[in-house]
Formats: sequence, C-alpha cells, structure tokens
Amino acid sequence: MEKKSLPIMYGLPDFNERTRARGAATGKRFPHAGIPLEGGCLVDAKNPKEALMLVCAECQRELREWNEAYDKEHGAPR
Ligand SMILES: [Zn+2]
Repeated sequence: MEKKSLPIMYGLPDFNERTRARGAATGKRFPHAGIPLEGGCLVDAKNPKEALMLVCAECQRELREWNEAYDKEHGAPR
C-alpha cells in the first residue's frame, strides 16, 4: 500500500452510466484504486487541489479488470 497525492475533481462530474457503475463497485472491489475524489461542484480557490490517498496495486488491478469487463459488456468508452 502506497500513499499518493491525487488530484481532487471539482465542478460537475462527468456522470454517465459507466462512472456511476464504477462508483458503486469502488468501495467493494477496489477501494484503493486511486480514482480521483469528487470535491463537489462548488469551485473555490481555497479548496485543496490534492488529497492524500492510499493506493495499492491489487486494487488498481481490480479496477483494470472491472474496466475491461464493463467495456466488453457495454462497448468501449466513448
Ligand atoms: Zn487495496
């Protein structure tokens, strides 16, 4: 497990079926995949730009597998 500084996403997230389904799977299957955090839609210059998150290779592999399985089932991302 590694600690990494990851960017926080502000603004309206790009919510489609894929990100929604991935969000639902994240906590169960790949909690440390390093998916950017949603900072909310209030953009403020004082907001932190990065957050320290735990990232592990196992979760990143799970995420890759999830992406591949999802794309196989629903077609490649647009
Ligand atoms: Zn993990």
